[in-house]
Amino acid sequence: MTLASTELFRRAQECIPGGVNSPVRACLAVGAEPLFIDRAQGSRIYSVDGDGYVDFVLSWGPMLLGHAHPRVTAALCDAARRGASFGAPCPDELYLARLLVDALPAVEMVRMVNSGTEAAMSALRLARACTGRPAFLKFTGCYHGHADPFLAAAGSGVAALSLPGTPGVPPGVVADTLLCPYNDLDGAERVFAARGGDIAAVIVEPVAANMGLVLPVPGFLEGLRELCTRNGSLLIFDEVITGFRVAYGGAQTRFGIQPDLTVLGKIIGGGLPVGAYGGKAEYMRRIAPSGDVYQAGTLSGNPPAVAAGRATLETLQCCDYAALELRVEQFCSGLERIFADKGLPVCINRCASMFALFFTQGAVRDFAGAAAADAERWARFYRFMRGRGFYLAPSAFETAMVSFAHAAEDFAAFAEAARDFAG
Ligand SMILES: *Cc1c(COP(=O)(O)O)cnc(C)c1O
Repeated sequence: MTLASTELFRRAQECIPGGVNSPVRACLAVGAEPLFIDRAQGSRIYSVDGDGYVDFVLSWGPMLLGHAHPRVTAALCDAARRGASFGAPCPDELYLARLLVDALPAVEMVRMVNSGTEAAMSALRLARACTGRPAFLKFTGCYHGHADPFLAAAGSGVAALSLPGTPGVPPGVVADTLLCPYNDLDGAERVFAARGGDIAAVIVEPVAANMGLVLPVPGFLEGLRELCTRNGSLLIFDEVITGFRVAYGGAQTRFGIQPDLTVLGKIIGGGLPVGAYGGKAEYMRRIAPSGDVYQAGTLSGNPPAVAAGRATLETLQCCDYAALELRVEQFCSGLERIFADKGLPVCINRCASMFALFFTQGAVRDFAGAAAADAERWARFYRFMRGRGFYLAPSAFETAMVSFAHAAEDFAAFAEAARDFAG
C-alpha cells in the first residue's frame, strides 16, 4: 500500500525540518501541501495519490529533455551497473568536460562539483584568488545557491551596507558582498566608483530566473562586461539555469558576451546532483592541483552523474531550440490574450523555454517589480491550476520551465484551464 501525500507529509514533518529537503517545496507560499511524487515521464509527473500533472517545474530546470528520457536512463543504468563511485577519474568525466568546453565559448577548462551552490562558491573563491581582492557585486533577486557570502540582502540603496539574509551568517562574511538592483547599470557603476579597487568579481544571472523571470535590458550585460574589464574585476555568469536552456551554448552564446568565469549546474547533470565551474585557462589553472587554490570533492565527477549529464547534452545537440522557443512564444501570447479578455493585469516574461507570469500592471525588470506583483492572486492561480492537473512552481518568484517533451496538447490544455480561472 502506498501512503497518500498528506500522510507522508505529516510523517515527514516529524523527521525532516518542515517535511522537505529544500524549503520552497513545502508550498507554504501558495497555501498548499506538497505532493509526494511517485514517478515522472516526459512532460508528466505523477503523485503517490495516483494523479498525473503536466509538469512546469522540471525539477527546477534540469529536465529539459523531459523526465526519464530513454537515452539518459540507459546511460544512467549502464553507469550504475559498473559501480556508483570510484574516487578516481572515469572516462565520462572527460567526455562531459569536453562537451562543456566545446559548447560554451567562454569556457576553456572546467571543474566538476556536486551542485550549483558549490560551483558558485568555488568560482567566487577563484575570482578572489586571481585578483587578490575581497569584495564582489551581486544583484538583488539573483540566486547563486546557499553559500554564506551570497546570502546577503540589503535595502534598495545602492551599495548599502550588506546584512546577512539569514541567521547563522556572521556580518563579517557578507561585509564584502555588494548589492545593486538587477538591470541597474548606473547603480553598478556607482558601486565601482566607490569600491572598484576592492572588487574581485561581478556575479550575475545573465537571464534572472529566481525572481520569476527577468530579462536583461539591452546594454546591461555588455555594460557589466565593460565595467569589469575596465576595473580588472572578473565577470562571472551564473548559468546554472541558462546554460543549455536559453541556447545550447548558454546565455554567453545567445547574447554574445564572454564572461571570465561560468557557473553551471542543473541541466548538465540530467537530473543528478551536479555542478561545474569553468572559464579562461589562465584562471582555471590556478585551481589545485595545477595551482594553489584549493577545491575538492569526494563525489565530484561521480560516474552515474556525469554519464547522465553526457547523455543529456549529446541528446540536446539534436534538439530544435528555435521550434521550442516559438511554441513558448505563441503560448505566452495566447495567455496574454486570455487574461486581457478577463481584464486581469498580467506581465508574462519569457525567454527560450522559460516563462513567468506576474499578476501586475506594466513591465517587470527587477526584484522590486517582481515583488510588487499580486502574490495572493498567484497563490490562487497555483491552487486552481494544480486542481486542473498542472504542476507549477509553488512561488511567485520562480520561473515556469518547459521541456522538449511538452507537446502542443500540453500547452493547449493549460490555456484552456487558465481561461476558467476566476481571478
Ligand atoms: C539552482 C541555482 C543555483 C544553486 O544550485 P543548487 O544545485 O541548488 O545548489 C545557483 N544559481 C542559480 C542561478 C540557480 O538557479
